[in-house]
Amino acid sequence: MVDIGIPAYLVASAVTGILSQRLVRRICDNCKVEVEVSEDIRASLEGFGIERIDKFYRGTGCPKCLNTGYYERIAVYELLRMSSNLRKVLSKTTDEQELLIIARKDGLKFLYEDALDKVKAGLTTIEEVISKVPFDYSLREI
Ligand SMILES: [Zn+2]
Repeated sequence: MVDIGIPAYLVASAVTGILSQRLVRRICDNCKVEVEVSEDIRASLEGFGIERIDKFYRGTGCPKCLNTGYYERIAVYELLRMSSNLRKVLSKTTDEQELLIIARKDGLKFLYEDALDKVKAGLTTIEEVISKVPFDYSLREI
């Protein structure tokens, strides 16, 4: 909003939160099986928290899911709450990195983290998350 000319103080006082969302396909419960994930996938997502996932799942395909392995969709979220700390800093700077660090201290969970939690819960596949959710390498340091 600041980039399009809205003064930072107005953004800080008017915005209560910003929600980012992606839809991913849900694994079909009727044909869900545990699978191994490739070392390539593990290596490419190292540092994002994939190390914490013990079991991965996918659907093998059945009449319920029309042999796709997926049935319906679920949302993955990132909710940035405008905390009092963030409000104070936003009136002084619009540096994205600095704002993200403060939001993180205030409990911001990144989109990819929510997505990986849903992989861990067996709701969606790691392949689906990789294709639909951005993995920003700069966020790993925050
Ligand atoms: Zn199925």
